[in-house]
Amino acid sequence: MTLPQPRPGIMDIAIYEPGKSQVQGARRVIKLSSNEAALGPSPKAVAALAGSLGESHRYPAGDSGEVREALGKAHNLDPARIICGAGSDELLGLVMRGFAGVGDEIIHTAHGFAMYNIYAKGVGATPVVAPEKDLTTDVDAILARVTPKTRIVFVANPNNPTGTYIPGSEMRRLRAGLREDILLVCDDAYAEFVDAPDYESGFALASETENTIAMRTFSKIYGLASVRLGWGFGAKNIVGVMERIRSPFNVSRPAQFAGLAALADRDHVARTKAHTKKWLAIGLQRLRGLGLKVGESHGNFLLPEFPKVPGKTAAECDAFLQENGIIVRRVDGYGLPNHLRVTIGDEEEMTVLLDVMAAFMERK
Ligand code: PMP
Repeated sequence: MTLPQPRPGIMDIAIYEPGKSQVQGARRVIKLSSNEAALGPSPKAVAALAGSLGESHRYPAGDSGEVREALGKAHNLDPARIICGAGSDELLGLVMRGFAGVGDEIIHTAHGFAMYNIYAKGVGATPVVAPEKDLTTDVDAILARVTPKTRIVFVANPNNPTGTYIPGSEMRRLRAGLREDILLVCDDAYAEFVDAPDYESGFALASETENTIAMRTFSKIYGLASVRLGWGFGAKNIVGVMERIRSPFNVSRPAQFAGLAALADRDHVARTKAHTKKWLAIGLQRLRGLGLKVGESHGNFLLPEFPKVPGKTAAECDAFLQENGIIVRRVDGYGLPNHLRVTIGDEEEMTVLLDVMAAFMERK
């Protein structure tokens, strides 16, 4: 008997491991493992979610029309060039299914977001890894890996889990150096946290070219990871392909209502950003003060590097944090076995986290 066989590449996929959410035996858990928003969702988004539930028997708007209109207004973009998805994750998968297949190559950076590799294998394409320089996207390394088979290049900017970014000029140099038929995906999941003056969101390139798409999400600064809402902005020829292959009601009604309310609550976004920036700075200073190597982060997380000294390793710190009810993210799977990724939490969570980290580093 021959059992059903998966398509080539699928069994090579290491299943995505989400940040843990539970610790055995811990009464109260501090979860800083999934880059979720420190202050939670806007109360207005929560009210909109609750208000939408009575209509649960209705299918949602299939084209997320109101959300696309509101996003277009908020960002001064043409709504006809916006596509919404169940998280930006869905959209990354649609890009892959629409533009790459068996025998094609896609390029992502060495410590880039894990799903690029997984989606590539899912369609039978070959992921090609471009090394980074100082944990930062290296445009020349990407360009050096382009072959006639290259179809898509994925760059998270800022990147998760490194927290580093490349300036607009570098992204433009990348676009200019890629063949016209190669799609560039600017994954801007953390764009709203960035203050660096030379940063440029992917919107500009996606407006000016017909082979670039910018991705955004409501999972990070808007605090709506659970409802699943992401969006992309690109030329009609790119978005039109994705529209053809997405499922008909891919964004739920609660997600559409919550997204609209969250987008309108600019005060909540500003509060979340200010809080995150404040604790990034405090965290950076405290962790460096403990002797850890930590780079500046442009997302909502820090990535301390631990010494390879027995008693002080990343794995041992992770175990110590868990004993104290704190979950952060091991990043071995991203090729970073000596680092831990720590999401910025609320004030109490950050105070406890930094004290427990200090206790770990100071213990004999
Ligand atoms: N891109 C990057 C760089 C991310 O870090 C994440 C979430 N961890 C995503 C995309 C996916 O986010 P979502 O599907 O929740 O929009």
